Amino acid sequence: MNKYLTDKQPLSGIQYCIRCCMPETQEGLKFDEMGICQACQSSEQKIHIDWVERERELRKILDAAKASAGNNYDCIIPISGGKDSVYQLHVLVNVYGLKPLAVTFSHNWYSETGEYNLQNALKEFNVDHILFTPNRGLVNRIARRSLETIGDACWHCHSGVGAFPLQAAVRFNIPLLIWGESIAESSGRASYKDPVHKFDREYFTKVSAKKTPSEMVCSYLTERDLYPFNVPSVEEIERVGVYGIHLGDYIFWDEERQTEFIREYYGWKETEMEGAFKGYKSAECIMAGVHDFTCYLKRGYGRATFQACVDVRTGLMTREEGLELARKIDSERPGALDYYLKITQLSEERFFETMKYLRHQKLLDIDIPVNPRKAPNREKTIPFFEQLIEKHRNREDPRKKD
Ligand SMILES: [Zn+2]
Repeated sequence: MNKYLTDKQPLSGIQYCIRCCMPETQEGLKFDEMGICQACQSSEQKIHIDWVERERELRKILDAAKASAGNNYDCIIPISGGKDSVYQLHVLVNVYGLKPLAVTFSHNWYSETGEYNLQNALKEFNVDHILFTPNRGLVNRIARRSLETIGDACWHCHSGVGAFPLQAAVRFNIPLLIWGESIAESSGRASYKDPVHKFDREYFTKVSAKKTPSEMVCSYLTERDLYPFNVPSVEEIERVGVYGIHLGDYIFWDEERQTEFIREYYGWKETEMEGAFKGYKSAECIMAGVHDFTCYLKRGYGRATFQACVDVRTGLMTREEGLELARKIDSERPGALDYYLKITQLSEERFFETMKYLRHQKLLDIDIPVNPRKAPNREKTIPFFEQLIEKHRNREDPRKKD
């Protein structure tokens, strides 16, 4: 018996990386002959990379973009207001002096903290900004369709955050897009030695949205409804010369320190997140807990596992501590599931049946426990704008005097 296959594992009967806490059920995960996952290998590569040389490369790219921009914007920065986007703004605006156009695809599930972080960042960095928000009814219908097609609630967000910045690049004639964290950081789809340089129009469909807008068409969603989620055509992309980079491939990425920094210097705020033990990941979205919970039901791990993996790799906790946290937190039923069931008109039974049907093959005979949350989330798991509407709808008319 492999000494690492202990009863400390959140689920028995499947293989976990021997370094971190990631199970073999993660999409795209590859172990080397020692049983170490790609992300663990990347985190070692990261230390041996010549970051000074990488930074020189970055400077070249940014200088070229500035030189060819004329009076137009130097680049597009897709932002959510989350920690990565605020750090991207810091680096690009305040360190390298670029004039970006910030673009946001709103999932329309912004938390109050998220709304504050976005508005605060726009003010702190003084950047021009475009926000696209699909309508509430459409978001609700896609959220229903999303569960049965891709196994989580968030297709509109996965595809929108991919498509909308590209649409903006084409419409505003701005070729360079700059994202944050390197893909090598979180998955086996790239490594630091072999980063994704070539811009790939299909990238977001392949890695996160999984389905094209056409594939989402059903009795309650038309091609026309789904128009905003289309990626520009190859001709349009080529006409503008769109290309994209991830800052994390050029500068050493350390999310803990970056979060500390933006909290201190720019007033960025964390919040309590469901299904996680850190308050800074996806803090802008009330539905993040549901997203991660569906991953847990399908693949046997959630956000807590993921965060534990990162902390184990950076030496902030031991593998045993990580596995323990993962087991405790991933299995909690998120409060936001109530909101999800309400907007999709799905029953709780139907939700769990669907998730069971979508379960990873290796987990078919394994019990995946679900536990109730101990206390309600401190951040309300209802979109902030819904809260705002509710509050003002029910407000006394100030002109009324009794
Ligand atoms: Zn690993």
